[in-house]
Amino acid sequence: MTLTSNIAIIGAGCAGLTLALTLHKRGIPCKVYEAAPGPRNVGGTLVLCPNGLKILDELGVYQDILSRGREDAVMEFRRVPGLELVDTVELGNTAKYGYNSVRVLRRHVMDVLLGALIARGITVHYKKRFARVLLETHEAVAWLFDDGTTGRATTALVGADGIHSRLRAHLHPDVALEFTHVFATTAIVPASQVCLPLGTNLPVTLMSNTQGAYVLVYADAAETQICVMKQARKADLGRDGWAAFVADTEGVVAFLREGAENFPAYVQRAVAAVPVDTLIVWPFHVVPQLRTWSSTLRKITLLGDAAHALPPSTGQGANQVLEDAFTYGTVLAQSTAETLADNLLKWHAGRQARVDGILKIAKKMNARRLPQVEGQPATFVPGDLTYDWVFDVDYEKLVSTWLAR
Ligand SMILES: Cc1cc2nc3c(=O)[nH]c(=O)nc-3n(C[C@H](O)[C@H](O)[C@H](O)COP(=O)(O)OP(=O)(O)OC[C@H]3O[C@@H](n4cnc5c(N)ncnc54)[C@H](O)[C@@H]3O)c2cc1C
Repeated sequence: MTLTSNIAIIGAGCAGLTLALTLHKRGIPCKVYEAAPGPRNVGGTLVLCPNGLKILDELGVYQDILSRGREDAVMEFRRVPGLELVDTVELGNTAKYGYNSVRVLRRHVMDVLLGALIARGITVHYKKRFARVLLETHEAVAWLFDDGTTGRATTALVGADGIHSRLRAHLHPDVALEFTHVFATTAIVPASQVCLPLGTNLPVTLMSNTQGAYVLVYADAAETQICVMKQARKADLGRDGWAAFVADTEGVVAFLREGAENFPAYVQRAVAAVPVDTLIVWPFHVVPQLRTWSSTLRKITLLGDAAHALPPSTGQGANQVLEDAFTYGTVLAQSTAETLADNLLKWHAGRQARVDGILKIAKKMNARRLPQVEGQPATFVPGDLTYDWVFDVDYEKLVSTWLAR
């Protein structure tokens, strides 16, 4: 049996679901295929910033997400041991951008997006793992699923299949993920255990020249849960090595605790008892800059982590995924069969420029969150981290500017 559609989306993560909603809003039908047997229960939290929230608002799901999350306007940066305030970075601002930032559990974001798909009558086809492309012509693209069935799309096959994308492997067989030699661990602990001293503001990054940093953020609006994050440099362990590292929860908790004695007592309380089911280990891999996000015939396009997985130190991973999906859907809606190929090239150029700018932010954030390298000058520069150009975005104008080039 061949599953046929105009547009087929591989992957029901943030990118795939947001694209499906965008296409629906533009009156374009699509089908979504997901490898997992059902909705995935992804752990941890996400910070959604004004540029991402604007998209969720356009798609009619912002209020639902806001009601499940916690709003913040700034993150403080303080230096131990004295805890003096060394910088304040804007995460959102309702007056300037229309939104604060919203910190929300990842599973809530997925629930809300999926709920919106269901309400609009868009089905996610589960247990459908894309295997390989069979054929691509000017008329259609055909592919095989792992279960032996096939799919066919006349306009586009979209690879929204995440960091280990098979669609990317098809378009760029020689490109391998790059490890940035940095990894992070996060855990969510009860706020009652942390017992923050009166007047302590979250979110906060507590910096130490020798130990790196702890980042503490509220994970919910009621301030009952706190997400603790710590990152460090590490040699690559390879896929199996990382799997073993993640499985060793005692070792991961030990890493979270290491050096905590150099930080305030509330950090020590936060890592004293860690619910291991909330632990997340995140080796920061990036996709090297790809020459193109589309196939030569432009029937296959990558977006989200498949195209440009970003390290979390940007605070923009999910937001950039939303930008890809929303702008790609908008470009599709504004293109004809004759203009689509050219417009996709322009879309990629526009998106790549924003992604490259975000990667520069990651370097500055790492300078605040990693121990200083011995013998090298400190790279932390107060005030050098600003998201104005990222948050202050009008997507209609942006897409028009790209397509007019
Ligand atoms: C541990 C962790 C913590 C993170 N925390 C944050 C954070 O705090 N803030 C932030 O902004 N970002 C965070 N991110 C990044 C953010 O989650 C990603 O940028 C975002 O989820 C990427 O969305 P995506 O849809 O492109 O990919 P994914 O979310 O990975 O979704 C890809 C989907 O494709 C499916 N799939 C894969 N292969 C196939 C196939 N062959 N056939 C069919 N389906 C397939 C997968 O099952 C999955 O559902 C985190 C990422 C990780 C891994």
